Amino acid sequence: MAKVILVTGGSRGIGAACCTLAAEHGYDVAINYAGNAAAADAVATAVEAAGRRAITIQGDISDASAVALMFDTTEAKLGAVDAFVSNAGVINKSAPLADTPIEEIRRVVEIDLTAHLICNREAVRRMATSRGGKGGAIVNISSKASTLFGGGGFIVYGSAKGGIDVLTQGLGREVAADGIRVNGLRPGLIDTDIQDDTGIENRIAKFGSSVPIGRAGTALEVAEAVIWLLSDQAAYVTGTIFDVSGGR
Ligand code: NAP
Repeated sequence: MAKVILVTGGSRGIGAACCTLAAEHGYDVAINYAGNAAAADAVATAVEAAGRRAITIQGDISDASAVALMFDTTEAKLGAVDAFVSNAGVINKSAPLADTPIEEIRRVVEIDLTAHLICNREAVRRMATSRGGKGGAIVNISSKASTLFGGGGFIVYGSAKGGIDVLTQGLGREVAADGIRVNGLRPGLIDTDIQDDTGIENRIAKFGSSVPIGRAGTALEVAEAVIWLLSDQAAYVTGTIFDVSGGR
């Protein structure tokens, strides 16, 4: 029987690449999204073209009942979740902290940290062998912004991502005996739509060549690492975080 993967923010960018690559690796795929139904449908079509089942689920990951419903829907339509990618995220407009509106601080921390805690909590409640689950694997998408201390006007975003790093390393240890592996990835500069939300024009063109490897990364290059971390090939890897950042 096919394994089941649930990806938050699976409609675009890194999440979409995870969904399509997961299908190529034999997973049935649940694609969560916030509002862009057309993009989610396009990813579902790509999953089905790879011969796997796909469902799309609209739901705000910062809403705990929507997150519970997202897992319920996946279980009912595809089966229990084997692999969970806590990926959906937003970024603040680049600015010094002193000039960042309070509402923006709250929004970014809510989606980039609180929501990931809610999602990981729900995943563990479903997967833990001590709670009747069958175990599983979780990958949390952090960012190099956490170890670069949010430089370039991203202290709010970097702070939230630093929280995800603690979540990953702590939870990996907390649930290791429950059949669940929890790992994280810190992507560097990746060419996706999120760059347009930074307020920095042509960010990829401006900064790509300053990455040690000489260019920005692709969503697929991040997805490759996600799929490996979720696989049985990574069976002895938990509570750790890998950089996918071209040496940045
Ligand atoms: P993206 O292209 O902007 O896609 C964001 C995705 O998240 C979309 O699918 C969006 O859904 C979804 N989303 C946003 N808010 C949501 C919410 N409240 N509930 C549910 N879904 C929500 O971004 P990306 O670059 O692929 O980023 C994915 C992850 O990688 C984020 O956590 C980001 O911080 C991290 N990351 C990205 C980079 C980079 O350079 N791109 C670097 C480091 C880390 P809709 O399509 O419906 O809007």
